[in-house]
Amino acid sequence: MLFQPGSPELQIYRDYAHSMGPLPCLDPIPSTSLEELADLYDGFLLDSYGVLNRAEEPIALAAEGVEWLKSIGRKVRVLTNNAALSEEDNRSLLSSIGIPLEHGEVVCSGSLLARERERLGIEGPVFYMGLASGREYLRMAGLATTDKPDATRVVVLGSSRGYRMRRIAEAQKILSQEGSLLVVLNPDAVAPRPGGVMARVSGVTARSLARGTGCKVALLGKPFGEIYSLALERIGLSADRVVAIGDTLATDILGARHAGISSALVLTGVTAPERARTEIKAWGIWPHRILSDLRPPIQQDLSD
Ligand SMILES: [Mg+2]
Repeated sequence: MLFQPGSPELQIYRDYAHSMGPLPCLDPIPSTSLEELADLYDGFLLDSYGVLNRAEEPIALAAEGVEWLKSIGRKVRVLTNNAALSEEDNRSLLSSIGIPLEHGEVVCSGSLLARERERLGIEGPVFYMGLASGREYLRMAGLATTDKPDATRVVVLGSSRGYRMRRIAEAQKILSQEGSLLVVLNPDAVAPRPGGVMARVSGVTARSLARGTGCKVALLGKPFGEIYSLALERIGLSADRVVAIGDTLATDILGARHAGISSALVLTGVTAPERARTEIKAWGIWPHRILSDLRPPIQQDLSD
């Protein structure tokens, strides 16, 4: 990944991997193709950024790959931590750049709020930090919001956008109370922005809030297990019939491996082709396979 050695973002991902425990080594890792994966699996869990799109730009051949998978009856779900947007807005964004997706085919970490609300003991109104579109996850969870720091002990961090510094200070005040909880709907520390820039996102904000206050933290989304249970439920297949394809070792591959789901590291995103095998060894996160891109097999013209 595109990190400076010793950077706080890198440490966040290292801590996630450490907290989940070591993974068995899978060396040697075979290279594969979408066609080969389609012979082996009925369901595809595709990461979004770095696999299908870079912000509002499509990744070459991804649309064709998704279309081909669907044309041969494979089930496809997009598995994303982009809780800045509702699932439907994530889908609209991808559809607008040509990725053929139907309603319900995006599974976002934000939807875990409704599933995990009871376990986390969230009752009253919550203080929300994020974009308007992400408020959909609060509605799904039946949670009211409040802008008064003294009216709640729960902060829901949906994304790194949609609020100013003053709101971070208010969140700090809430989270300094005893029994307070920070719920993070996107644990990612970095996200690619147009022009090849990597921006610090909500995983970094969450760490700084937690360190400054000592609050409890619930991290929902890849690489943690809850999103994989939700994805398998939504795709309607058992873990052994599904492959997860992603570009980030410490989220997509780490999470799939711990969830008992086969994984393929795709080289169209943050993991550069020439560095992939070195990075796999350095992280100790071994995908089952490596895939150069989502290109479908060459279609033969049978008309003549
Ligand atoms: Mg990605």
